[in-house]
Amino acid sequence: MTAIDYDLEFLEDGRTIELISIGMVCDDGREYYAVNRDMPVRRIRKHKWLMENVVPHLPKGHGDQRIHMPKRWLFHYADHRVKHRKTIANEVAEFIRAAGPDVELWANYGAYDHVALAQLWGPMIALPDGVPMFTHDIQQERARLGLAWNDLPQQESGEHNALADARHNQTVRRWLAERAQSA
Ligand SMILES: [Mg+2]
Repeated sequence: MTAIDYDLEFLEDGRTIELISIGMVCDDGREYYAVNRDMPVRRIRKHKWLMENVVPHLPKGHGDQRIHMPKRWLFHYADHRVKHRKTIANEVAEFIRAAGPDVELWANYGAYDHVALAQLWGPMIALPDGVPMFTHDIQQERARLGLAWNDLPQQESGEHNALADARHNQTVRRWLAERAQSA
């Protein structure tokens, strides 16, 4: 088994889930991070929590780019991690396939993450070959082992940066696997 731990930042309003950014880390050492340049910026700008917690982590460019970034931009459009949703869909499918046939997807409170991930490719039936149809949830494994969230390793920094969150998910998921083995 090869695990991919992932995390998405998204805008959800009870009806739709819109991708903002995605971070993935694979057991084989590969990492992926992308920001959706097609995200609904006007709606995000009106969302206080996202503006305070998620938007600050989005790429703002380097050096002169950063200085000249228009104030109204939520992220720097020229950053190489900023990509069209369609490109992200292709790259994510490739990232998952490259992990081999025994890949498992893992996320934390991952129900919304799984739906937003699967919707990269459209309706459920369009899920690409090689992409698992479900995501394992760290919370389910935590509960199964009779542990509280506070018993687990805590995230030191970068919370709500999708890649930092994915890396932390990997740490917690591996920690839980060790606990499960010694139990
Ligand atoms: Mg997150």
